[in-house]
Amino acid sequence: MPKIIMQNPIVEMDGDEMTRILWQQIKDELLSPFVELNTEYYDLGLKHRDETDDQVTVDAALATKRLGVAVKCATITPNAQRVEEYSLKQMWKSPNGTIRAILDGTVFRAPITVSNIKPAVRTWQRPITIARHAYGDVYKSVELAAPGPGRAELIFTGEDGVTKSTVIHDFKGPGLLQGMHNTEASIRAFAHSCFRFALDTQQDVWFSAKDTISKTYDQSFKLIFQEIFDKDYKAAFEEKGLTYFYTLIDDAVARVIRSEGGFIWALKNYDGDVMSDMVSTAFGSLAMMTSVLVSPDGVYEYEAAHGTVTRHYYRYLKGEETSTNPMATIFAWTGALAKRGEMDGNKALCDFAAALEAACLKTVEEGYVTGDLAALIGPSATKLTSLQFLRAIRERIQL
Ligand code: NAP
Ligand code: MG
Repeated sequence: MPKIIMQNPIVEMDGDEMTRILWQQIKDELLSPFVELNTEYYDLGLKHRDETDDQVTVDAALATKRLGVAVKCATITPNAQRVEEYSLKQMWKSPNGTIRAILDGTVFRAPITVSNIKPAVRTWQRPITIARHAYGDVYKSVELAAPGPGRAELIFTGEDGVTKSTVIHDFKGPGLLQGMHNTEASIRAFAHSCFRFALDTQQDVWFSAKDTISKTYDQSFKLIFQEIFDKDYKAAFEEKGLTYFYTLIDDAVARVIRSEGGFIWALKNYDGDVMSDMVSTAFGSLAMMTSVLVSPDGVYEYEAAHGTVTRHYYRYLKGEETSTNPMATIFAWTGALAKRGEMDGNKALCDFAAALEAACLKTVEEGYVTGDLAALIGPSATKLTSLQFLRAIRERIQL
């Protein structure tokens, strides 16, 4: 059969460790045999980031803006131990942080659900999608240790020189300070991304924050969401029978646990970080969580929600064939290829992405899985190595 042609390229960001190994295997076993892959390749492996003084990460993000679709492999965020391990010039920032700062927008995370893995929460029947605001708050905060007694103040100086200030605290002894911010433009973009994604995927939107305590910061998020919903989306939601509501985060947590799933839970940056790990683990495995960054100007960057699976990589380096789960990384590719196909009117590419996802689900539902899922499914499962698992998927692709 002739290979599927891609009219326009997508951005391909390679990464680190075990996921870098899986990345190549996925291309060799599941993609290249069927698709004439058209990608603009950026090597975000830590060594190459160091060689380019991290310029490659910036270039990859700018290319994503230009081409509209990207797929990213998991990457190491260096800490002191990594600086030594890779003899780095400096402790480079998180690539995801750099990319999000350039693209802005919202990260949507949804579990891949299969019939033979039951969620830890009995009532959940459909996936819960976490919409995490990807800009600001504690991730862009500055911190200061107050060495001793004294007054801490928050001061804003306008371009016209006019200042606004408030006292944070009168310290009687040493203490700690943190200053964080967000921008109205980013919060507005967050709201638009959530409502658009809801219409795209036919799901309700729940938004939660802590406006009772944070009467300016969180309250503004709440008001902006409501204003944008009423003005731009209410009619479309009503037409599709969808709903939007805001509720306090404490209440949201309780409602989510009692729900049947099948909605988008919009959360501020930190809340989304924490809750997405809770939701993915409760659905089964971090290795079954997909992630897409949607920017306000309609740019899509797909990746797996998990990291580079370092522990497996060290075993791989010792010659062991590991049983690392490639599902979320495969779904990052299918998400990106399907979006490229949708943008280009390339039905063959969209059909291929759907067929590959169906083959993945079939393989798992027939009990052929990697070690992490074998442990969840129990004795009826057959544990395969990553490569055996990829080949089992390939046998099940029906085009
Ligand atoms: P991790 O790579 O997600 O792995 C944590 C553990 O979760 C693994 O040791 C493994 O458990 C299990 N796991 C995760 N993904 C799996 C998969 N696909 N198949 C099977 N098991 C899987 O997180 P980490 O160890 O905290 O971080 C490792 C590196 O990844 C760090 O350098 C971090 O900076 C980076 N990271 C990158 C991203 C990103 O690029 N988006 C996100 C998070 C972390 P067992 O060992 O028990 O089998
Ligand atoms: Mg996290």
